[in-house]
Amino acid sequence: MNISIQNLNKVYGNNYQALTDVNLNIEPGMFGLLGPNGAGKSTLMKILVTLLSPSTGEIMVNGMPLSKNRKEVRSMIGYLPQDFRFFAKLKTYEFLDYAASLAGITSRKERRNEVEKLLEQVGLYEVRNRYANKLSGGMKRRLGIAQAIVGDPKMVIVDEPTTGLDPEERIRFRNILTDLSQRDVIIILSTHIVGDISSTCTQMALLNEGKIGFKGSPNQFLEMS
Ligand code: ADP
Ligand code: ADP
Repeated sequence: MNISIQNLNKVYGNNYQALTDVNLNIEPGMFGLLGPNGAGKSTLMKILVTLLSPSTGEIMVNGMPLSKNRKEVRSMIGYLPQDFRFFAKLKTYEFLDYAASLAGITSRKERRNEVEKLLEQVGLYEVRNRYANKLSGGMKRRLGIAQAIVGDPKMVIVDEPTTGLDPEERIRFRNILTDLSQRDVIIILSTHIVGDISSTCTQMALLNEGKIGFKGSPNQFLEMS
């Protein structure tokens, strides 16, 4: 698994340049994208998950150009968007069961196994019969990551997942991601909180006003700043 982001530019409308000449190489493990509000993190993530097209540049996924293999790449990706909300009146397990059917798991029994595994993995088994919109903020976020990893995607894109969480829930969330990163997956985590990255990521980049200002390990970054 390898992602190579090459000379990526994104212009919104006629002239708002949200990303400028972004080049990044991402290998399995957890990759942190650090940047303040408005830096362009969500824009880059939406391009990675094929919701947006870049203005110029290309992303290669395992050597395949993303622009020509959208469908295939999309099927390898799990995504937790920023500010993910649950609108449906579904119980926690029903929500994941539905996510599993969207992910293409057609057998009821397989879905049940998958959902039970996920509920355990994110610590929501005890509340599986509670309505998803009645869960606490931290639980909702954990349900969000569970729906992103249904069916074991090869790439998991997580946009600002810890905003508004208390310290205990933030650590819980980080631990779920750390466990995931032990497998052969690429996790890309965007955040404006340096602690989210330094405690979990092997590689990182700093994005500022659409430009990459640093690439390397969190240790190198902390020594510099
Ligand atoms: P971040 O996720 O780092 O906060 P975003 O990628 O959301 O940054 O936004 C980067 C910049 O692009 C911001 O200035 C934002 O206002 C602008 N932007 C985001 N989406 C759009 C859009 N659809 N149209 C115009 N400008 C946008
Ligand atoms: P019934 O057959 O009576 O509709 P189910 O077997 O669908 O009942 O559900 C009974 C209980 O089993 C649910 O309340 C839930 O706790 C659990 N359950 C059902 N389906 C799943 C699933 N896909 N994943 C995890 N737990 C499930």
